[in-house]
Amino acid sequence: MEKRILTGDRPTGPLHLGHYVGSLQNRVRLQHDYDTYILIADIQALTDNFEHPEKLEANVFEVALDYLAVGLDPERVKIVVQSMVPELSELTTYFMNLVTVATLERNPTVKDEIKQRNFKRGVPVGFWSYPISQAADITIFKAELVPVGEDQLPMIEQAREIVRRFNSLYARVLVEPRAMLGQMARLPGTDGGAKMSKSLGNCIYLGDPPETVRKRVMSMFTDPTRIHPTDPGHVEGNPVFTYHDVFNPDKAEVDDLKERYRKGTVGDVEVKRKLFSALDGFLSPIRERRAEFAAQPARVREIIMDGTRKGRAVAQSTMDEVRAAMKLNYKFG
Ligand code: ATP
Ligand code: MG
Repeated sequence: MEKRILTGDRPTGPLHLGHYVGSLQNRVRLQHDYDTYILIADIQALTDNFEHPEKLEANVFEVALDYLAVGLDPERVKIVVQSMVPELSELTTYFMNLVTVATLERNPTVKDEIKQRNFKRGVPVGFWSYPISQAADITIFKAELVPVGEDQLPMIEQAREIVRRFNSLYARVLVEPRAMLGQMARLPGTDGGAKMSKSLGNCIYLGDPPETVRKRVMSMFTDPTRIHPTDPGHVEGNPVFTYHDVFNPDKAEVDDLKERYRKGTVGDVEVKRKLFSALDGFLSPIRERRAEFAAQPARVREIIMDGTRKGRAVAQSTMDEVRAAMKLNYKFG
């Protein structure tokens, strides 16, 4: 059997540069070596957006456009909508017995996200327990590899624990997944914050028009200790240079900028202009492909439906094995 990849994104908005370097790039690179399933995790998105379910449908479409725009091949990759695979909810329920409250409470990513979200009426159980449903997402596809950003490592670890527990309690049905980090495990935000994230409003989106990208770049956080362009500046920890390292293919230009920045012989404006031009070179073909697919909504919907049908078939077959292993395949009458 061909080895499988499962990964995905929450349809809480379009995808950004962080998604690209954290995960999308690996998906594109590996799509011909692995049987690939990409989950648009709308049920997980509901866990902190349940008051605005109307946002999901449009974002499911936007996220699918981003996949196609970065070069995921719809003939090869299955784009699967989570809520259209009800077997995932069933497996989540079984998994709930295999995880303790104490383990959930220790999950460092969920702890951070709870702080960030500042839930006014307390933390929804759905949000707090999403690592369990995410384990179901991964394991129902028997995925071996999960290309993700650094924030997802605790989720993969949780999934591995559940698999070990399930396989030793019931039968060896499930596969232990392993995480694969991207070229950049965590891309910082344009505000210098630790992570570019939809919820933080510090993003450059893959579909942003050039003028938006330019504005974002020109107002990026740089070295706060540097007042004048003639002050020696810091390159390390400076997001403008982090982005240059990742997105500027002209390494000689980047080295030269870094050297002059350290000496105080280049201003932020020049460094940012060159970053914009590098990013524009990277984003232009993505933007063009995105526009091509956006002009064919019926085709995009068909791609999503086709991927979801294929994904659901895999999920149903795993669930037959899961129920048998758990002695839930009753034969009455
Ligand atoms: P939200 O704020 O709604 O949680 P998000 O921007 O964190 O959105 P997700 O859909 O939660 O995006 O993440 C999808 C995938 O992209 C995950 O594998 C995650 O690790 C990865 N990812 C997201 N942001 C970054 C980033 N800044 N750097 C590297 N990987 C990232
Ligand atoms: Mg997230």
